Amino acid sequence: MLLDVRDLRVEFRTRDGVARAVDGVGFGVDAGETLAVLGESGSGKSVTAQAVMGILDTPPARITGGRILFQGRDLLTLKGEERRRIRGAAMAMIFQDALSALNPVMTVGDQLGEMFVVHRGMSRKDARARAVELMERVRIPAAAQRVRDYPHQFSGGMRQRIMIAMALALEPALIIADEPTTALDVTVQAQVMDLLAELQSEYRMGLILITHDLGVVADVADRIAVMYAGRIVESAPVRDIYKAPAHPYTRGLLDSIPRLDQKGQQLYAIQGLPPNLTHVPPGCSFHPRCPLARDVCRTDEPPLYQVDEDRGSACHFWRECLHDRDH
Ligand code: SF4
Ligand code: MG
Repeated sequence: MLLDVRDLRVEFRTRDGVARAVDGVGFGVDAGETLAVLGESGSGKSVTAQAVMGILDTPPARITGGRILFQGRDLLTLKGEERRRIRGAAMAMIFQDALSALNPVMTVGDQLGEMFVVHRGMSRKDARARAVELMERVRIPAAAQRVRDYPHQFSGGMRQRIMIAMALALEPALIIADEPTTALDVTVQAQVMDLLAELQSEYRMGLILITHDLGVVADVADRIAVMYAGRIVESAPVRDIYKAPAHPYTRGLLDSIPRLDQKGQQLYAIQGLPPNLTHVPPGCSFHPRCPLARDVCRTDEPPLYQVDEDRGSACHFWRECLHDRDH
Protein backbone atom coordinates (compact mmCIF):
# COMPACT_ATOMS: atom_id res chain seq x y z
CA MET A 1 0.00 0.00 0.00
CA LEU A 2 1.31 3.43 -0.97
CA LEU A 3 -0.23 5.35 1.92
CA ASP A 4 -1.59 3.78 5.06
CA VAL A 5 -2.97 6.16 7.67
CA ARG A 6 -3.88 4.66 11.02
CA ASP A 7 -5.75 6.12 13.95
CA LEU A 8 -4.66 9.67 13.13
CA ARG A 9 -5.49 12.31 15.73
CA VAL A 10 -5.12 16.06 15.42
CA GLU A 11 -6.15 18.60 18.04
CA PHE A 12 -6.49 22.34 18.10
CA ARG A 13 -6.54 24.45 21.20
CA THR A 14 -9.22 27.11 20.96
CA ARG A 15 -10.67 29.57 23.45
CA ASP A 16 -13.62 27.20 23.89
CA GLY A 17 -11.41 24.23 24.65
CA VAL A 18 -9.72 21.45 22.73
CA ALA A 19 -11.13 20.70 19.30
CA ARG A 20 -10.54 17.18 18.04
CA ALA A 21 -10.33 18.07 14.37
CA VAL A 22 -9.26 14.55 13.40
CA ASP A 23 -10.31 11.89 15.85
CA GLY A 24 -8.94 8.46 15.02
CA VAL A 25 -9.01 8.44 11.23
CA GLY A 26 -7.63 5.55 9.15
CA PHE A 27 -7.55 4.88 5.40
CA GLY A 28 -5.29 3.53 2.71
CA VAL A 29 -4.43 4.53 -0.85
CA ASP A 30 -2.78 2.22 -3.39
CA ALA A 31 -0.69 3.29 -6.36
CA GLY A 32 -3.03 4.16 -9.20
CA GLU A 33 -6.01 4.48 -6.86
CA THR A 34 -8.23 7.49 -6.24
CA LEU A 35 -9.72 8.02 -2.83
CA ALA A 36 -12.27 10.78 -2.40
CA VAL A 37 -12.51 12.19 1.12
CA LEU A 38 -15.89 13.74 1.42
CA GLY A 39 -17.40 15.99 4.06
CA GLU A 40 -18.80 19.38 4.93
CA SER A 41 -16.49 22.18 5.91
CA GLY A 42 -15.12 21.54 9.40
CA SER A 43 -15.36 17.76 9.06
CA GLY A 44 -11.58 17.40 9.32
CA LYS A 45 -10.87 16.46 5.72
CA SER A 46 -8.44 19.30 4.96
CA VAL A 47 -6.72 18.89 8.32
CA THR A 48 -6.22 15.20 7.54
CA ALA A 49 -4.68 16.12 4.18
CA GLN A 50 -2.41 18.70 5.76
CA ALA A 51 -1.24 16.20 8.37
CA VAL A 52 -0.35 13.72 5.62
CA MET A 53 1.50 16.43 3.67
CA GLY A 54 3.27 17.62 6.80
CA ILE A 55 1.98 21.17 6.41
CA LEU A 56 -0.29 21.46 9.42
CA ASP A 57 -0.19 24.96 10.81
CA THR A 58 1.49 24.61 14.17
CA PRO A 59 0.54 25.91 16.65
CA PRO A 60 -2.37 25.55 17.34
CA ALA A 61 -2.76 22.24 15.46
CA ARG A 62 -1.01 19.26 16.96
CA ILE A 63 -0.85 15.62 15.88
CA THR A 64 -1.56 13.71 19.07
CA GLY A 65 -1.58 10.16 17.78
CA GLY A 66 -1.53 7.73 14.92
CA ARG A 67 0.75 6.68 12.11
CA ILE A 68 1.14 7.91 8.54
CA LEU A 69 2.91 5.14 6.65
CA PHE A 70 4.06 6.29 3.23
CA GLN A 71 5.89 3.73 1.10
CA GLY A 72 6.33 1.77 4.31
CA ARG A 73 7.87 4.55 6.43
CA ASP A 74 6.09 6.38 9.21
CA LEU A 75 6.26 10.05 8.23
CA LEU A 76 5.52 11.11 11.80
CA THR A 77 8.83 9.68 12.99
CA LEU A 78 11.01 11.20 10.25
CA LYS A 79 13.25 14.17 10.95
CA GLY A 80 12.51 17.55 9.35
CA GLU A 81 14.96 17.36 6.46
CA GLU A 82 13.99 13.84 5.39
CA ARG A 83 10.35 14.71 5.69
CA ARG A 84 10.81 17.75 3.49
CA ARG A 85 12.57 15.71 0.84
CA ILE A 86 9.62 13.31 0.58
CA ARG A 87 7.17 16.18 0.52
CA GLY A 88 9.11 17.94 -2.22
CA ALA A 89 9.39 14.99 -4.59
CA ALA A 90 7.21 12.00 -3.71
CA MET A 91 4.06 13.87 -2.67
CA ALA A 92 2.45 16.94 -4.08
CA MET A 93 -0.59 18.99 -3.23
CA ILE A 94 -3.09 20.88 -5.34
CA PHE A 95 -5.05 23.62 -3.63
CA GLN A 96 -8.40 25.21 -4.30
CA ASP A 97 -7.01 28.64 -4.97
CA ALA A 98 -4.23 28.62 -7.56
CA LEU A 99 -3.87 32.36 -7.40
CA SER A 100 -2.64 32.27 -3.83
CA ALA A 101 -0.67 29.04 -4.26
CA LEU A 102 1.33 30.33 -7.22
CA ASN A 103 3.92 33.07 -6.94
CA PRO A 104 2.33 36.23 -8.43
CA VAL A 105 5.61 37.91 -9.41
CA MET A 106 7.17 34.97 -11.24
CA THR A 107 6.18 33.75 -14.71
CA VAL A 108 4.59 30.32 -14.74
CA GLY A 109 7.48 29.08 -16.88
CA ASP A 110 10.00 30.13 -14.23
CA GLN A 111 7.92 28.53 -11.47
CA LEU A 112 7.61 25.26 -13.30
CA GLY A 113 11.22 25.38 -14.45
CA GLU A 114 12.48 26.00 -10.94
CA MET A 115 11.20 22.60 -9.87
CA PHE A 116 13.56 20.97 -12.37
CA VAL A 117 16.48 23.25 -11.55
CA VAL A 118 16.18 22.69 -7.80
CA HIS A 119 15.18 19.02 -7.68
CA ARG A 120 16.69 17.64 -10.86
CA GLY A 121 19.74 19.87 -11.30
CA MET A 122 18.71 20.84 -14.84
CA SER A 123 20.04 23.87 -16.68
CA ARG A 124 17.67 26.85 -17.02
CA LYS A 125 17.29 26.16 -20.72
CA ASP A 126 16.37 22.49 -20.30
CA ALA A 127 14.10 23.34 -17.39
CA ARG A 128 12.27 25.86 -19.56
CA ALA A 129 11.80 23.24 -22.28
CA ARG A 130 10.36 20.81 -19.68
CA ALA A 131 8.05 23.57 -18.43
CA VAL A 132 6.65 24.03 -21.94
CA GLU A 133 6.15 20.26 -22.30
CA LEU A 134 4.29 20.12 -19.01
CA MET A 135 2.06 23.01 -19.97
CA GLU A 136 1.25 21.23 -23.20
CA ARG A 137 0.57 18.07 -21.23
CA VAL A 138 -2.10 19.88 -19.19
CA ARG A 139 -3.42 21.36 -22.45
CA ILE A 140 -2.60 25.02 -22.09
CA PRO A 141 -3.00 26.44 -25.62
CA ALA A 142 0.09 28.16 -27.07
CA ALA A 143 2.22 26.87 -24.21
CA ALA A 144 5.50 28.01 -25.76
CA GLN A 145 4.34 31.62 -25.60
CA ARG A 146 2.34 31.39 -22.42
CA VAL A 147 5.25 30.21 -20.26
CA ARG A 148 6.23 33.86 -20.16
CA ASP A 149 2.96 34.94 -18.60
CA TYR A 150 2.20 35.53 -14.93
CA PRO A 151 -0.47 33.62 -13.00
CA HIS A 152 -3.00 36.48 -13.06
CA GLN A 153 -2.94 36.45 -16.87
CA PHE A 154 -4.62 33.03 -16.93
CA SER A 155 -8.27 32.13 -16.40
CA GLY A 156 -9.21 30.22 -13.24
CA GLY A 157 -9.41 26.91 -15.10
CA MET A 158 -6.05 27.46 -16.82
CA ARG A 159 -4.43 28.38 -13.51
CA GLN A 160 -5.74 25.18 -12.01
CA ARG A 161 -4.15 23.28 -14.91
CA ILE A 162 -0.87 25.02 -14.15
CA MET A 163 -1.13 23.87 -10.54
CA ILE A 164 -1.71 20.35 -11.76
CA ALA A 165 1.40 20.71 -13.93
CA MET A 166 3.41 21.90 -10.90
CA ALA A 167 2.16 18.97 -8.86
CA LEU A 168 3.06 16.49 -11.61
CA ALA A 169 6.46 17.95 -12.43
CA LEU A 170 8.50 15.59 -10.28
CA GLU A 171 6.22 12.62 -10.94
CA PRO A 172 5.15 12.14 -7.34
CA ALA A 173 3.78 8.83 -6.08
CA LEU A 174 0.90 10.63 -4.35
CA ILE A 175 -1.10 13.76 -5.09
CA ILE A 176 -3.49 15.32 -2.63
CA ALA A 177 -5.98 17.71 -4.19
CA ASP A 178 -7.98 19.81 -1.72
CA GLU A 179 -11.17 21.07 -3.39
CA PRO A 180 -9.28 21.40 -6.69
CA THR A 181 -12.27 22.53 -8.73
CA THR A 182 -14.50 24.23 -6.17
CA ALA A 183 -13.66 27.74 -7.37
CA LEU A 184 -14.45 26.93 -11.02
CA ASP A 185 -17.72 26.93 -12.88
CA VAL A 186 -19.38 23.63 -13.61
CA THR A 187 -18.17 22.91 -17.16
CA VAL A 188 -14.60 23.90 -16.34
CA GLN A 189 -14.81 21.77 -13.18
CA ALA A 190 -15.55 18.69 -15.23
CA GLN A 191 -12.68 19.39 -17.66
CA VAL A 192 -10.14 19.90 -14.91
CA MET A 193 -11.34 16.80 -13.06
CA ASP A 194 -11.14 14.71 -16.23
CA LEU A 195 -7.62 15.94 -16.89
CA LEU A 196 -6.56 15.11 -13.35
CA ALA A 197 -8.05 11.63 -13.60
CA GLU A 198 -6.39 11.01 -16.95
CA LEU A 199 -2.94 12.05 -15.72
CA GLN A 200 -3.39 10.09 -12.53
CA SER A 201 -4.00 6.86 -14.38
CA GLU A 202 -1.23 7.56 -16.89
CA TYR A 203 1.33 8.15 -14.13
CA ARG A 204 -0.20 5.49 -11.85
CA MET A 205 -0.20 7.88 -8.91
CA GLY A 206 -2.22 7.60 -5.77
CA LEU A 207 -4.72 10.46 -5.65
CA ILE A 208 -6.63 11.79 -2.68
CA LEU A 209 -9.45 14.11 -3.67
CA ILE A 210 -10.77 16.21 -0.83
CA THR A 211 -14.21 17.59 -1.56
CA HIS A 212 -17.56 18.59 -0.16
CA ASP A 213 -19.23 17.71 -3.45
CA LEU A 214 -19.99 14.07 -4.10
CA GLY A 215 -21.18 14.92 -7.59
CA VAL A 216 -17.72 16.11 -8.67
CA VAL A 217 -15.86 12.93 -7.71
CA ALA A 218 -18.42 10.31 -8.65
CA ASP A 219 -16.85 9.47 -11.99
CA VAL A 220 -13.22 9.55 -10.96
CA ALA A 221 -12.97 8.05 -7.46
CA ASP A 222 -12.42 4.35 -6.73
CA ARG A 223 -13.27 4.64 -3.06
CA ILE A 224 -14.98 7.21 -0.88
CA ALA A 225 -14.31 7.98 2.75
CA VAL A 226 -17.02 10.16 4.26
CA MET A 227 -15.95 12.32 7.19
CA TYR A 228 -18.13 13.83 9.87
CA ALA A 229 -16.95 15.70 12.96
CA GLY A 230 -13.39 14.47 12.67
CA ARG A 231 -14.15 10.82 11.94
CA ILE A 232 -14.72 8.58 9.00
CA VAL A 233 -18.37 7.53 9.15
CA GLU A 234 -18.47 5.50 5.96
CA SER A 235 -15.75 4.05 3.78
CA ALA A 236 -16.57 2.05 0.69
CA PRO A 237 -15.99 1.51 -3.03
CA VAL A 238 -17.72 4.29 -4.93
CA ARG A 239 -20.20 2.06 -6.72
CA ASP A 240 -21.38 0.50 -3.44
CA ILE A 241 -22.08 3.93 -2.04
CA TYR A 242 -24.08 4.84 -5.10
CA LYS A 243 -26.05 1.63 -5.01
CA ALA A 244 -26.97 2.08 -1.37
CA PRO A 245 -25.27 4.13 1.33
CA ALA A 246 -24.72 2.40 4.67
CA HIS A 247 -24.77 5.59 6.73
CA PRO A 248 -27.59 8.16 6.97
CA TYR A 249 -25.13 11.02 6.53
CA THR A 250 -23.88 9.56 3.25
CA ARG A 251 -27.48 9.13 2.20
CA GLY A 252 -28.12 12.78 2.93
CA LEU A 253 -25.11 13.83 0.85
CA LEU A 254 -26.23 11.62 -2.04
CA ASP A 255 -29.78 12.89 -1.94
CA SER A 256 -28.57 16.47 -2.09
CA ILE A 257 -26.81 16.04 -5.47
CA PRO A 258 -28.86 17.33 -8.40
CA ARG A 259 -29.48 14.47 -10.83
CA LEU A 260 -29.79 15.05 -14.53
CA ASP A 261 -32.30 12.26 -14.93
CA GLN A 262 -34.74 13.79 -12.45
CA LYS A 263 -35.75 17.21 -13.69
CA GLY A 264 -37.74 19.41 -11.39
CA GLN A 265 -37.02 17.18 -8.42
CA GLN A 266 -37.12 18.40 -4.87
CA LEU A 267 -33.52 18.41 -3.65
CA TYR A 268 -32.96 17.11 -0.18
CA ALA A 269 -30.86 19.06 2.30
CA ILE A 270 -29.49 17.58 5.50
CA GLN A 271 -31.08 19.59 8.28
CA GLY A 272 -29.02 21.40 10.90
CA LEU A 273 -25.31 22.14 11.02
CA PRO A 274 -22.17 20.14 11.74
CA PRO A 275 -21.19 20.32 15.41
CA ASN A 276 -18.67 22.62 17.00
CA LEU A 277 -15.63 20.38 17.40
CA THR A 278 -15.02 21.50 20.96
CA HIS A 279 -18.50 20.24 21.89
CA VAL A 280 -19.23 17.17 19.83
CA PRO A 281 -22.56 15.55 20.80
CA PRO A 282 -22.26 12.36 22.88
CA GLY A 283 -23.04 8.99 21.37
CA CYS A 284 -23.19 9.25 17.60
CA SER A 285 -22.07 12.80 16.77
CA PHE A 286 -24.55 12.85 13.88
CA HIS A 287 -27.60 12.11 16.04
CA PRO A 288 -29.02 15.66 16.25
CA ARG A 289 -29.33 15.67 12.45
CA CYS A 290 -30.13 12.05 11.78
CA PRO A 291 -33.58 10.97 10.55
CA LEU A 292 -32.97 7.44 11.89
CA ALA A 293 -31.72 8.44 15.36
CA ARG A 294 -33.11 6.71 18.44
CA ASP A 295 -32.17 6.51 22.11
CA VAL A 296 -29.06 4.36 21.81
CA CYS A 297 -27.62 6.88 19.33
CA ARG A 298 -27.58 9.58 22.00
CA THR A 299 -25.49 7.52 24.40
CA ASP A 300 -23.45 4.90 22.55
CA GLU A 301 -20.81 5.93 20.09
CA PRO A 302 -20.92 3.64 17.06
CA PRO A 303 -17.63 1.96 16.10
CA LEU A 304 -16.81 1.59 12.41
CA TYR A 305 -18.82 -1.57 11.78
CA GLN A 306 -17.57 -3.90 9.08
CA VAL A 307 -20.33 -3.96 6.47
CA ASP A 308 -18.37 -6.20 4.15
CA GLU A 309 -14.73 -6.88 3.51
CA ASP A 310 -13.91 -3.48 2.03
CA ARG A 311 -16.66 -1.41 3.53
CA GLY A 312 -17.27 0.15 6.93
CA SER A 313 -20.04 2.25 8.48
CA ALA A 314 -20.13 4.03 11.84
CA CYS A 315 -23.88 3.66 12.27
CA HIS A 316 -25.62 1.32 14.71
CA PHE A 317 -28.36 0.91 12.13
CA TRP A 318 -26.30 0.50 8.98
CA ARG A 319 -28.35 -2.54 7.93
CA GLU A 320 -31.51 -0.55 8.03
CA CYS A 321 -29.90 2.32 6.15
CA LEU A 322 -28.60 -0.05 3.49
CA HIS A 323 -31.99 -1.59 2.88
CA ASP A 324 -34.18 1.45 3.18
CA ARG A 325 -33.96 2.83 -0.35
CA ASP A 326 -36.42 5.64 -0.05
CA HIS A 327 -36.13 6.99 3.45
FE1 SF4 B 1 -28.15 8.02 12.88
FE2 SF4 B 1 -27.96 6.52 15.06
FE3 SF4 B 1 -26.78 5.77 12.82
FE4 SF4 B 1 -25.85 7.84 14.18
S1 SF4 B 1 -25.88 5.73 14.85
S2 SF4 B 1 -26.12 7.74 12.02
S3 SF4 B 1 -27.75 8.76 14.92
S4 SF4 B 1 -28.98 5.97 13.16
MG1 MG C 1 -11.09 22.69 3.49
